[in-house]
Amino acid sequence: MQGLMHHFIDKQWVTSRGERRLPVTDPYHDTLIAEVTAGAPEDVDAAVSAARRALPAWRALGGVARGAYLDAFADALAERRDELAALSSRNNGKPRAEAEQDLSDAIACYRHYAGEARDLEARQGETVSTGEAGLVSRRYQEPAGVAGLITPWNFPLVSSAWKIAPALAAGCTVVFKPSEVTPLPEQALAEIAQAIELPAGVFNLVHGDGANIGAPLTAHPGVDKLSFTGSNPVGEAVMAAAARGTRNVSLELGGKSPILVTEDADLDLATELVLAGFCYNAGQMCSATSRLLVHERVANALHDRLDAAIAELVAGDPQDPATTLGPLVNATQRHRVSAYLAEAEAEGLTPTTTPALALPDQGHFVSPRVFRDVPTASRLWREEIFGPVLCARAVRDDDEAVALANDSAFGLAATVVAGTGERADALANRLTAGNVWCNTYQVAPPGLGWGGMKGSGLGRELGRAGLDAYLEARYVTRPA
Ligand code: NAD
Repeated sequence: MQGLMHHFIDKQWVTSRGERRLPVTDPYHDTLIAEVTAGAPEDVDAAVSAARRALPAWRALGGVARGAYLDAFADALAERRDELAALSSRNNGKPRAEAEQDLSDAIACYRHYAGEARDLEARQGETVSTGEAGLVSRRYQEPAGVAGLITPWNFPLVSSAWKIAPALAAGCTVVFKPSEVTPLPEQALAEIAQAIELPAGVFNLVHGDGANIGAPLTAHPGVDKLSFTGSNPVGEAVMAAAARGTRNVSLELGGKSPILVTEDADLDLATELVLAGFCYNAGQMCSATSRLLVHERVANALHDRLDAAIAELVAGDPQDPATTLGPLVNATQRHRVSAYLAEAEAEGLTPTTTPALALPDQGHFVSPRVFRDVPTASRLWREEIFGPVLCARAVRDDDEAVALANDSAFGLAATVVAGTGERADALANRLTAGNVWCNTYQVAPPGLGWGGMKGSGLGRELGRAGLDAYLEARYVTRPA
């Protein structure tokens, strides 16, 4: 038991003024491993005030010096990689190898934005073409101000890296609220900020739930920029809060992403990618490709391979290197997924995956389920389930696959498995999705971009766009 998680405000460990505590659990052993304060709006006030005080000096420091701090974040995470991967796996329930991949992604992200911070300084005042004879323009980019950052529980240290690294690189100061479900690994960021002697108030971490910390943070007039990753209903509330004061907002929300398999695809590769698309992190991925659209000529062969691959998954202790499927993050999430399985039964849908995978008699496990010929009106086809549940349909041709893929309220991601890269590219370019992976696993290198179309969000994280999200541009024009 790790005790009570404290806030980190103005470079100090601060006990919350709120008395209510929330349990932090290990979803495999179903035990209490820590408690987190539910926080109070006064804690948000204190953190925002600290961030505002720190802003002028952090902005003035310049990109090169800020980049050095981001490199120090990356170095410190790399030094603590094993310990933090173990902690993340324990708190979230994800297999250890997946937690290690998260650490690699987070480290790469801080490293990438160290470089972006340096580039930003080099680009300040660069000449831009006006298209008008006799005029010269220069562009400057200023930090957006104090950034309020809120993340979910499914990729601890990764979702936060995608916000904290570009915000600090841009010259913003930060108030970060991690998910109350997985605060343990995120707490390390405050320890690192202290260890690398980041100036007071530049990075503040406030623990707590949505009502007591999240909503007050989004409503706070001292916050200039909001960046939220999480569910659609909360995302819409964050956007409404940002409307007051016309504040800058980025949203990374849910998905119901498709995976397309053509008749000439390599079916072994397709099997691997379909399985990973809905079972990695036990399906708790915003980018889960949980709608399979497979050409009717290869549908049976693919489903046979998929059933065999599911049977080979090893559900068990997330810390055991042999484990490939961990439990869901908590009982609430298991109930959410179970409610969809009950809905499937009520709709007369029967999973093809029989017998179900053997599960440990402890932990919040859900056995992977595949449903075939799911009607497009079904809630299982249209809504994000956030668990290891795949809905499949056989299609006659590419046109039907594309039409069904795009018939969704979301547009976060997609995968295409086709016989050639060219064919996959051609299909990818017809899809309404922010990221499309062709004949490869889901990857999100920090130099690319991440974000959704339609109901999946607003704006992009990662890459140059992810930095621009924390910057305001000023164009200065005069006669040449
Ligand atoms: P959630 O929306 O319940 O919570 C996300 C965060 O918001 C948590 O820190 C929570 O405490 C906070 N919060 C809750 N109510 C709030 C309020 N009223 N105001 C401000 N903050 C509030 O989501 P979750 O259950 O933690 O995560 C699952 C969801 O996140 C899924 O829908 C998933 O698709 C989405 N997600 C999206 C991406 C992406 O990149 N698009 C990535 C990961 C997760």
